[in-house]
Amino acid sequence: MELHTDPDDLEYLSSMELQRRSIPDEQIKRFEGYASEIFSAFGMDVNTPATKDTPRRFIRALFDATEGYDGDPKLLRVFETECRGEPDCSLSQVMEGPIPFFALCEHHALPFYGKAYVGYIAHENIIGISKLTRLVRLFAKRFSVQERIGQQIADTLETMLHPHGVAVFLEAHHLCMEMRGVREIAPMTRTTVWRGHYAEDPSLRAEFFTACGLQRNEGR
Ligand SMILES: [Zn+2]
Ligand SMILES: [Zn+2]
Repeated sequence: MELHTDPDDLEYLSSMELQRRSIPDEQIKRFEGYASEIFSAFGMDVNTPATKDTPRRFIRALFDATEGYDGDPKLLRVFETECRGEPDCSLSQVMEGPIPFFALCEHHALPFYGKAYVGYIAHENIIGISKLTRLVRLFAKRFSVQERIGQQIADTLETMLHPHGVAVFLEAHHLCMEMRGVREIAPMTRTTVWRGHYAEDPSLRAEFFTACGLQRNEGR
């Protein structure tokens, strides 16, 4: 994957914490062998027509589910805007959500999935709404933890847009808890990140939740 290296891009490129993944075919073949050995020992008949390609499909699916490390070239454009100055500038929130996401927890390599809500208060730059979705997925499609995804979204929006504030709310089901019967019906795990004006102004946070259709006082 080729990424632009315009000097202006470098700051937020580094906030994306990308890795260029390139895995040789012979290594992939070895991984498929490991997967086959594990599946077989754990009870799968890996020699049926339905399962003979399962190790290959599993390794491919795992690679695809973590493609956030590779970056997203469509995330590199931001648009200039004119700050209308205080206080109007601080009142114009841009909000997007729910943005569905799927991630793998770095403790168990099992999925957690849910919805993200992202808001920011524009200053000199704005980003297309569809780019917010791409940004969420850039960080979700990795081995991660929910809190870090929220922080990384906020960090990158701050370096890309220099906004007056950023708000990120994530709610997710964690299959590492739910599948293994720790708690079969686990509540959603919810995390928030507030930056800039959102950190200082409770009314902005309330407006964010209301605009997202979230009722904080109902235990969500
Ligand atoms: Zn886990
Ligand atoms: Zn401004």
